[in-house]
Amino acid sequence: MRNVDLHCHSTVSDGLLSPTEVVSLAVKGGVDVLALTDHDDTAGLQEARTAAESHGIRLISGVEISVSWDHLTVHIVGLNIDPTHPELAEGLMKVRGGRLERARKMADGLAAAGIPGAFEGALSFASSDQMIGRTHFARYIVEQGKARNVSAVFKRYLVKGKPGYVSHRWAELGEAISWIRAAGGIAVLAHPGRYKVGSAGLRALLEDFKNLGGEAIEVVTSNHTQVQVHRFADYAQHYGLLASRGSDYHGPGESFTLPGRLGPLPSICKPVWQAWS
Ligand code: AMP
Ligand code: MN
Ligand code: MN
Ligand code: MN
Repeated sequence: MRNVDLHCHSTVSDGLLSPTEVVSLAVKGGVDVLALTDHDDTAGLQEARTAAESHGIRLISGVEISVSWDHLTVHIVGLNIDPTHPELAEGLMKVRGGRLERARKMADGLAAAGIPGAFEGALSFASSDQMIGRTHFARYIVEQGKARNVSAVFKRYLVKGKPGYVSHRWAELGEAISWIRAAGGIAVLAHPGRYKVGSAGLRALLEDFKNLGGEAIEVVTSNHTQVQVHRFADYAQHYGLLASRGSDYHGPGESFTLPGRLGPLPSICKPVWQAWS
């Protein structure tokens, strides 16, 4: 059976490894089909493709788009996209464009909470000011000795109600899905188990997602329990969605599920990757 991992990050967004290093690690983990899915940016795909070709594995072009839906931020992964498609490229540029101003506001909030210099500090961990995000702030705050690790920083400073949190309007759900489809890709609802929403809210999200042209849902991902895996497999079947599998790997010391080291999709699922083989 093939080992397919359709969600991971590189230094282009908030991963710790270069695209080449991510591909090497995936090869070590036995992955035969890998998608690089950096947040809101496709700049790592060319390097990843070269690395994948040298190892003889298949690289699927991907991206993970930040979306605002209702009062939530949700992530939509686009798989098998043409990253040069103008509608997608322009859409992603627009989404990245909001990050700089948000980061300045985050830094103001953190300064007021006794953490000065966070904008410059976070920027030193980011590939560009367009791609600056909460993970880069978290790494800076750990470096400053204000928290033990990245996940402790999120809890204390970077989630709703905390001093470094700034509410932000990302892409609309329909926009993200239409950019992905225009670029020939499949839209996947990422890590559905992570959204802070009840089951009625989740069903409303899935209904909107499906009606707007979304085609798949991540059933197996690093933070899903077995109960969630089966729950989302049932949702996939109920809504007529394909199922995806992805580690959401960000880097050593931060992600404890290595690329490809995930359980299989439940047998009732239709794998999203079947369309490509
Ligand atoms: P941003 O797009 O700037 O809001 O950052 C979102 C990213 O922050 C996610 O893709 C994760 O990599 C990371 N993240 C979000 N919540 C947490 C958390 N509780 N612990 C660790 N990392 C998190
Ligand atoms: Mn991330
Ligand atoms: Mn995500
Ligand atoms: Mn991700």
